[in-house]
Amino acid sequence: MWCIKVDRFLPYSRQWIDEEDIKNVVEVLKENIITQGEKIEQFEKALAEIFGAKYAVVFNSGTSALHGAYFALSLGKNDEFITTPISFVATSNAGLYLGAKPVFVDIDSDTGCIDASLIEKHINPKTKLISVVHYGGHPVDMDVVWNIADRYGLFVVEDACHALGSKYKGKMIGDCKRSSAVIFSFHPLKHITTGEGGAVLTNYEDVYNKLKMFRNSGITKDKRFFENKSDGDWYYEMQILGFNYKMTDFQAALGLSQLKKLERFVKKRREIANFYDTKFEGNKWFNVLKNKDFALNSYHLYPIRLKGNCTEKKQEIFKALRKSGLGVQVHYIPIYLQPFYKKLGYKQGLCPEAEAFYRQELSLPIFPLMDEKDVEFVISAVFDVFERMCG
Ligand SMILES: *Cc1c(COP(=O)(O)O)cnc(C)c1O
Repeated sequence: MWCIKVDRFLPYSRQWIDEEDIKNVVEVLKENIITQGEKIEQFEKALAEIFGAKYAVVFNSGTSALHGAYFALSLGKNDEFITTPISFVATSNAGLYLGAKPVFVDIDSDTGCIDASLIEKHINPKTKLISVVHYGGHPVDMDVVWNIADRYGLFVVEDACHALGSKYKGKMIGDCKRSSAVIFSFHPLKHITTGEGGAVLTNYEDVYNKLKMFRNSGITKDKRFFENKSDGDWYYEMQILGFNYKMTDFQAALGLSQLKKLERFVKKRREIANFYDTKFEGNKWFNVLKNKDFALNSYHLYPIRLKGNCTEKKQEIFKALRKSGLGVQVHYIPIYLQPFYKKLGYKQGLCPEAEAFYRQELSLPIFPLMDEKDVEFVISAVFDVFERMCG
């Protein structure tokens, strides 16, 4: 089988596109309709089916999917939403787009996920929604989140961009059983890719209808929803201020083709993580994250946390790992420490666990295209660098 071979430099993650994927994309490129055709509908149906939700709506990115979900749940000016500082900026930016205020809650240092037990004390009459992130693929303790949300009448959004194929208490993330919406990203670094792309899954018909309008400039062509009398068969209505957030049909074809491989991709990521776990157990330089009893982790990331004097040497360790061919990365700088957020008034010290996590964290390469030699290469490069730098 044809595949791109990675040698010497291993990124922390990357896509795996094979000949079958390419064939599926090329077929759509020869069609008359290359955007918003039948592949979009097929991809949405397949997503809903595989993850166990009623509806899926695909977008041109995970960021626009988040924006759509928050919009459809009527997050707006004067609202607050609770979220985590250890995420990609989009989780919180999407609320800022709508004029809402992010309230950052500190993390559980075992997993890097929001500490669900700290959420309640940040709720006030302005709180409308809780947006959690299954960091690295590790599920948040959702029962705690859902119970709080029920008690206060809040919406729950799961930013599951890291967690395709993860399970919480045996159930697939994405089934939307007690969440209003679940978000996926199909960026090439995530579990499956459409180049750029994302999706919202939901069980609510009204949210679904709003999402479809939102990604299409706020326009509907569906007579059932018209506010005014139709002028003729050409008639359409713009009812909300939406955006052009549409995915193309050839991207959806890639998504459909990739989705078939998700189970295999997740299995491979889990095997690599288990192998790392056993090799790194008990080492004196860094800790690995802990999986909770309720978790089945699909490992978008394999984060390690530096210990003791290694923490102070993080810059040098990072450089040395990069130099030895490991495309390590740091996930994440706490969102509220970004200059834009600081100008909004957020201050250093807001979430001490998240800030400590940032000081210590490094993400090692993990992706399904890695073979045994690659995995061994990572392990020996890691031990070599730490032996050299921290003794
Ligand atoms: C990747 C990612 C997003 C956004 O996805 P894009 O498709 O890149 O816009 C949002 N949240 C998290 C946690 C992500 O990792």
